[in-house]
Amino acid sequence: MVNSEIRKHRTLDGRPGLLVLAIAGLAMALAAGLPLSGVAERTTATAGASVGGGLGVPGKPQIKGFTCLERCVAPLKATPGSKLRITGVYLNRVLKVVFRTEGGTVGTRFVDRDAASVEVDVPEKAVTGKIYAVTGTGTRSNKSSEPLEVLPASQIPREVFPVRGRVSYGSGGARFGAPRGGYSHQGQDLMAPCGTGLVSIRRARVLFNTYHSAAGWYVVLRNLGTNTEFAYMHLIEKSRLKVGQKVGAGSVVGRVGQTGRAYGCHLHFEFWQGRWQMGGRPIDPLPYLRTLKRSR
Ligand SMILES: [Zn+2]
Repeated sequence: MVNSEIRKHRTLDGRPGLLVLAIAGLAMALAAGLPLSGVAERTTATAGASVGGGLGVPGKPQIKGFTCLERCVAPLKATPGSKLRITGVYLNRVLKVVFRTEGGTVGTRFVDRDAASVEVDVPEKAVTGKIYAVTGTGTRSNKSSEPLEVLPASQIPREVFPVRGRVSYGSGGARFGAPRGGYSHQGQDLMAPCGTGLVSIRRARVLFNTYHSAAGWYVVLRNLGTNTEFAYMHLIEKSRLKVGQKVGAGSVVGRVGQTGRAYGCHLHFEFWQGRWQMGGRPIDPLPYLRTLKRSR
């Protein structure tokens, strides 16, 4: 390809500017009291509810798909207690989502919603089966075309591969340690089409979710228990994760993009021993990535 030279993108690797940004981001997060996800989501849910009445044209809610967000076995495989995002149309009037149980069904109230998505916690009694939504006035949606698999929490993986799809590790320039005009590449690039899903490789807490001119939209996660941190860069848009939120292995982080200084769609992935850009050291992620299981 003609642009192959240009496609050897440069990233922020070790730039002092990023450190300043990172510290600023941390300070802001601390000032905001590191909001927990549940609190923030309930605030959003209230706002969503008030929007629901404004636009008129009430349509019958329609479910098109779902993704498990937290405490998941895989993006389409939940556990009792998982957070589930259902996507579709006319969902801003949905009051509850109905799951199958051993003896029948159980409905559970939404946690967050807008026209295109509803988030709910999978009830403790839920078993594998198709799901549907019900509005406040009792209108039912279609049933999901696929059943939601509900598995025991013991099957939640401890580690998964960060990209939900086929990737290429590229040539030497994409590797950890490749020269980048005065500094060296601190991560591994994983080439994948823009829009491909990204998930957390481990159980972790969200440290940063912001924009940088070189990194683009990026997220930094801190693993709980091993003093490792990992960064996902050039996301297609801002991640929906909230700083301070805890995520499980396989939880949705965002989607592959090429924001910031990136030429071609890919994930720039960094794996740090210790604190990211604050005293820790980056290690070559590739041998580790090769050991990880795909999340579906
Ligand atoms: Zn890179």
